Amino acid sequence: MGKVLIIGAGGVGTVVAHKVAQNADIFTDIMIASRTKSKCDAIVKAIGNPNIKTAQVDADNVDELVALFNSFKPEIVINVALPYQDLTIMEACLKAGVNYLDTANYEPKDEAHFEYSWQWAYKKRFEDAGLTAILGCGFDPGVSGIYTAYAAKHYFDEIQYLDIVDCNAGNHHKAFATNFNPEINIREITQNGRYYQDGKWVTTAPLEIHKDLTYPNIGPRDSYLLYHEELESLVKNFPTIKRARFWMTFGQEYLTHLRVIQNIGMARIDEIDYNGTKIVPLQFLKAVLPNPQDLGENYEGETSIGCRIRGIKDGKERTYYVYNNCSHQEAYKETGMQGVSYTTGVPAMIGVMMFLKGLWKRPGVWNVEEFNPDPFMEQLNKQGLPWHEVIDGDLEL
Ligand code: NDP
Repeated sequence: MGKVLIIGAGGVGTVVAHKVAQNADIFTDIMIASRTKSKCDAIVKAIGNPNIKTAQVDADNVDELVALFNSFKPEIVINVALPYQDLTIMEACLKAGVNYLDTANYEPKDEAHFEYSWQWAYKKRFEDAGLTAILGCGFDPGVSGIYTAYAAKHYFDEIQYLDIVDCNAGNHHKAFATNFNPEINIREITQNGRYYQDGKWVTTAPLEIHKDLTYPNIGPRDSYLLYHEELESLVKNFPTIKRARFWMTFGQEYLTHLRVIQNIGMARIDEIDYNGTKIVPLQFLKAVLPNPQDLGENYEGETSIGCRIRGIKDGKERTYYVYNNCSHQEAYKETGMQGVSYTTGVPAMIGVMMFLKGLWKRPGVWNVEEFNPDPFMEQLNKQGLPWHEVIDGDLEL
C-alpha cells in the first residue's frame, strides 16, 4: 500500500522503523536513510527484515535529498532527523513531489528558538503542489494536539483552559543523561518559559514556575512550566482557549547538573576556538554525554503524558484528563529503545498510516489537531500507547 522513507537513524528513527515493519499490510516498501549509513544497517539487522533498504544522505543538502527521493520514489518522508533539517527536507519534498511528516518544528542552528512560522510559510506551495505536510506528529507535539482535538470534538462546546502535563518517572541509573538528542533537549529547557493567557504570551524566567502535580500510577512530581511548540498551534486552532500551559517534571539531580552545565558555559551554542579548532560547547557536551539510545536496557519506571482540560459543555463546566502511561522496559523489549523514543516514534508511524489510508491526506501544511482525531486515537490503543480518561476529576490546575 505505501512506500515510505524514514530520515534519521536515532532513537526515534529506530522506533519508527520497528513500528512500520510491524504494520506490513500498510507499509509495503521501506527505506531508512541517515547521515551515518551503518546506523541504518544496524536497525535493519535488529528488525531482521532484509527487504528494508538503507542509504546515506546529508539532510542539510537539498540536492542530495532530491536525488535520493527521485531514485527511491517514496510517497511520504518521515523526518525524524533533527529540527535543523525540517526546511531542507520540505524543500526537497516540493522539488521531488513527495509528502512530508515530522515530529518537531524547525529551529535554526545558531539560535535556540523554535516557532511554526518558518514551516507554515510553506502552506501555499504544498497546496499548489497537491502535497500534504503533517507537522509535529510525535507525542508532544503530536498526541497532545490529537488529545485536545478529541476532547473538543467529543466532550466540550468550548475548551477554555488547557494544561499539557509531561512526566518522566523513569530511572536510567546514570548521574545525568537526556532522553532524546541532548543538544535539542538542553536548548529547549534552558530557554525562558512562556504560556498563553487571555490572548497574550506571558514570559517567565527558565523553570521559574513549578508545582507538584499527581500523575496516575506514579504520584506527585515537581512539574515545571516550559514553553512548548504545540501551544502556538493549539491556541490558534482552538481560539476559545483562555489559558494554555505546558508542564514537565524534572528531578533535583537533573536540575543541579543542568545548572552546572550552564554556569560553566557548556550549554553555549556559539562557536569557540579550542586549540585552533572551532567547536560549539553544547555539541561537544553531546559527544561526551550518554547516548539516549543506550539508556533503554536499565531504564525502569514509566512516562505519563496527558492533557488536563477545563471548559464548557451544555452550559456547564466540565473537566477532562486524557493520558497515556508508557513503561520504559516494555518499550525496550519491543524496540530496543526507551519510552521517550517510543512515545515519539509510535505516533509518527500512526500519522503516516493515517496519510496512506487517505484519512489525513489534504494538500497544504497542517498541525495534527487539524485532522480527524478519531482514527488516530483508535490506532494509539492498538499500537502500544493506550490512553485513559477521567471526566470531572480534580485537575489540580
Ligand atoms: P537522535 O540524535 O538520536 O537522532 C537523530 C538522527 O538524525 C541521527 O541518526 C542523526 O545522524 C540524524 N541526522 C542528524 N543530522 C542529519 C543530517 N544532516 N543528515 C542526515 N541525518 C542526520 O535524535 P532523536 O531520535 O532523539 O530525535 C529525533 C527527532 O525527534 C528530533 O527532531 C527531536 O526533536 C524529535 N523528538 C520529538 C518528540 C515529540 O514528542 N514530538 C520527543 C522527542 C524527540 P547521526 O547518527 O549520524 O548523528
